Amino acid sequence: MRVTRLRAASIGTMLIAAMVSVSSQQPKIGYDDTPMQPNGKWHIHDGNRPQPTMITPGATPGAAPADATILLGSGTDASAWQMTNGSPVTWPMKDGVLQSSKGMIQTKAQFTDFQLHVEFATPKDVKGTGQGRGNSGVFLLGQFEVQVLDSYQNPTYPDGQAAAMYGQYPPLVNASRPPGEWQAYDIIFTAPRFNAAGTLEKPAVVTVIHNGIVVHHATAYQGPTEHKIIKPYVPANGKGPIRLQDHGNPVHFRNIWIRPIKGYDET
Ligand code: MG
Repeated sequence: MRVTRLRAASIGTMLIAAMVSVSSQQPKIGYDDTPMQPNGKWHIHDGNRPQPTMITPGATPGAAPADATILLGSGTDASAWQMTNGSPVTWPMKDGVLQSSKGMIQTKAQFTDFQLHVEFATPKDVKGTGQGRGNSGVFLLGQFEVQVLDSYQNPTYPDGQAAAMYGQYPPLVNASRPPGEWQAYDIIFTAPRFNAAGTLEKPAVVTVIHNGIVVHHATAYQGPTEHKIIKPYVPANGKGPIRLQDHGNPVHFRNIWIRPIKGYDET
């Protein structure tokens, strides 16, 4: 018993000595003698691979992370936006909340691949039915609509209800809150890619989370969205602004932010 305890103590001392010895040197991260990954870019557990950039997350769910561009915030005006003809925004704004009004607005900046957070509320004072009730829209690159509609007990064609990829896919489920309540879209989007000849190589792909619920999962747009048609892809679809739709209903927007999505190992 005594011998065993002594041996255990001695092994413990050796372990501590080894740990101190390792920690006094520059610790080696990862491996360089492991097989290459099948794509040929890095060793498995490669210590020379770039460390991902640290980003401070938002303080609360839905709050902008440190590297986001604030498109609409509590302390901002609408200066990130313009009417589609380039003139200043005429939609009314108060305390960080923008209300859709006559004419569509779009960001001055253009985007390709991004994560976008949008909060909206359809009118509490319910008027109209179907597509005439709380209609607006978030147009990705100005061309691919994620529908905004009051879809709380308001039947319409499924590929035109709230969170639909308009005219193409209904949401996987109806995650709508009642009229007047704040709702959120978290949208992850990759722009379409074209080859040098202008032929489509990869369509636009979107993932949409509506009020915390996945409603599209890496789904490809069949082309730019419009009422009653699906337009063919053309190279001009490859980048564009975020556009908010005027459909004649006063829909509120707040807390809109965007951050570009880079590739792996890009710092
Ligand atoms: Mg719409």
